[in-house]
Amino acid sequence: MPIHVQALTRRGFLAGGAAAVAGLAVGRGAIGAEGDANRFALLSDTHIPSRPETEARGVNMTRNLQRVVGQLIALERKPAGVIVNGDCAYLKGLPEDYANFASCVGPMAGAGLDLHVTMGNHDDRGPLYDALVMQEPDRAVVESKHVSVIESEHANLFLLDTLTEVDVVTGELGREQLGWLAGELDRRGEKPAVLFAHHNPQFTPPEEGARWSGIRDTEAFFELIAARPQVKAYVYGHTHRWSIGKRDGLYLVNLPPVAYLFEEGLPNGWVDAQLGPGGMVLELRAMDPGHPQDGQGVALEWA
Ligand SMILES: [Zn+2]
Repeated sequence: MPIHVQALTRRGFLAGGAAAVAGLAVGRGAIGAEGDANRFALLSDTHIPSRPETEARGVNMTRNLQRVVGQLIALERKPAGVIVNGDCAYLKGLPEDYANFASCVGPMAGAGLDLHVTMGNHDDRGPLYDALVMQEPDRAVVESKHVSVIESEHANLFLLDTLTEVDVVTGELGREQLGWLAGELDRRGEKPAVLFAHHNPQFTPPEEGARWSGIRDTEAFFELIAARPQVKAYVYGHTHRWSIGKRDGLYLVNLPPVAYLFEEGLPNGWVDAQLGPGGMVLELRAMDPGHPQDGQGVALEWA
């Protein structure tokens, strides 16, 4: 399940419902005063190892995340939340990976930025939760079995969990979670919904003998979505490939990795998301400011 760490000054935002949204507008401390309740920073695939010096595919993952966190806390208009959409840890979700992860994201709390984390195939729920709790034992940490919906002014964000087994590539939502999601969406039919989970949709089964690398129950997931037109976008990571597509009216947003790429020339980095009454504008912040796609903006529009 997703994990949420609330910044000290912004407690109350995740309590859900109109009261929490109103609290954002009127009840914020000095640090969050310049924040934007409709802006979210979208990160994925940070792959933080136990040791800060570890590199993979020519990338120091710890340094990449530290750089992104530096950019986030320097933003003049603070995002309402930072979402790391899975594969926070390098490969096996080790406690030491999360200790390093927690120290990388530590400065966000002081800057009033809330952190939301979903589980990737290289994550492990227990150690991640422990590390984030232990980092700041007196800080409010909510395990989100009951708090997986971020309600904001223009859209509800649903954070889902596709981790099946640690370090096994296959993703799955499962019947129980799909049932929960259907119920939560049905209770919020009036407002656009954006769904988040780590794995990519996979519409065709793998070759015989091969593993599913995307979501094994994509068919059931997309049937559920098709029946609920308030769902406007599905945001995922996993493939380490920045792209935006559309299928039957639903936007498919594949976030870039903060960490390494599987294909040369693609951008890594994070995505600045601005929600509005008619959609969401995304802007790519590439790790390499000289990358031709850095600053690329895409407007997702919905009625
Ligand atoms: Zn990954």
